[in-house]
Amino acid sequence: MCDLHHSISRRTFGLIGASVLGAAALPRLVRAAEVEALAFSCIDFRLVDAAVKFFDSDIGAKDYDLLALAGASLGAVSPKFPSSNAAFWDHVEIAKSLHHIRKVIVLDHRDCGAYKVAFGKDFASERNAETMQHRTMMAALKSALAKKHPDLAAEFYLMALDGTAERVV
Ligand SMILES: [Zn+2]
Repeated sequence: MCDLHHSISRRTFGLIGASVLGAAALPRLVRAAEVEALAFSCIDFRLVDAAVKFFDSDIGAKDYDLLALAGASLGAVSPKFPSSNAAFWDHVEIAKSLHHIRKVIVLDHRDCGAYKVAFGKDFASERNAETMQHRTMMAALKSALAKKHPDLAAEFYLMALDGTAERVV
């Protein structure tokens, strides 16, 4: 009885293991060795769901690593956020070495608190000025990426608080 029970348990465990690894997890694990992009956003709680939807559906990134730092492009390049600068470059290296990413997708957003901190002024009510601020940071990051990682493509988007996004750089 005990042997039978033991044998069934082992067999059941074996089937569950085979099913999980064979049907679902294994293909995912195999794919995980190579992913398309590092997706990079701000930390803002208001746009977490919208950011994931944007990466998943709106631009159709198949697989991506995900990084969030306050200000996104601003956090990566502004001297006001040196530890964020370092974290960004560290994670580009990690995503490259672990998953062989080929692209960095940067998603800034309007009404960003990090931009207010860095520039000491709220541009949210001046749409064009706000867009220019983001474009300046994005261009700086694009240039730095091209120098450090010329093999990586880069796309830069700006999301409004309603979750819609436009490509800026
Ligand atoms: Zn933000």
